[in-house]
Amino acid sequence: MSLNLAAVLVVLLAARQAAGYPCTPARRADCPKPPGGLALQQVPQFITVTWDDAVTSQSFGIVQQILGGLKQRNGCPIPSTYYVTAQDTVPAAAQALYLAGNEIATHTLTHVAYPSAQEVVGCRDWLANKTGIPRQKINGFRCGRLVDIG
Ligand SMILES: [Zn+2]
Repeated sequence: MSLNLAAVLVVLLAARQAAGYPCTPARRADCPKPPGGLALQQVPQFITVTWDDAVTSQSFGIVQQILGGLKQRNGCPIPSTYYVTAQDTVPAAAQALYLAGNEIATHTLTHVAYPSAQEVVGCRDWLANKTGIPRQKINGFRCGRLVDIG
């Protein structure tokens, strides 16, 4: 699956989930309330940005086009989580993303939907060995093809 198609599918899945969410600007009474009695203005808001599959010069360029130099309110870059497959990833590119403040996570060795433990742990080992990213810093995992094995 191409990176562009994967990105479109992620957006469509997010839109489908958002459509079922009862909270809208017109129906604020249906919105979940902040925990601990906090005022809405006191609750930090987070958006996570994630990417899947091999880190290559092509995928890196596509991500840069999408983010387009966007910054956080404080002027810092927007960090992402990269769910990386070992297959086809350029180790130096994954290392550069990590050193730039992004999270590197595993996405199996070969992008399988229902991975064995070796596919998951092997990807983590490969990333640590090939990129020098400390093993304890590689914590996230996502199945190939966005399969939920939860
Ligand atoms: Zn993937």
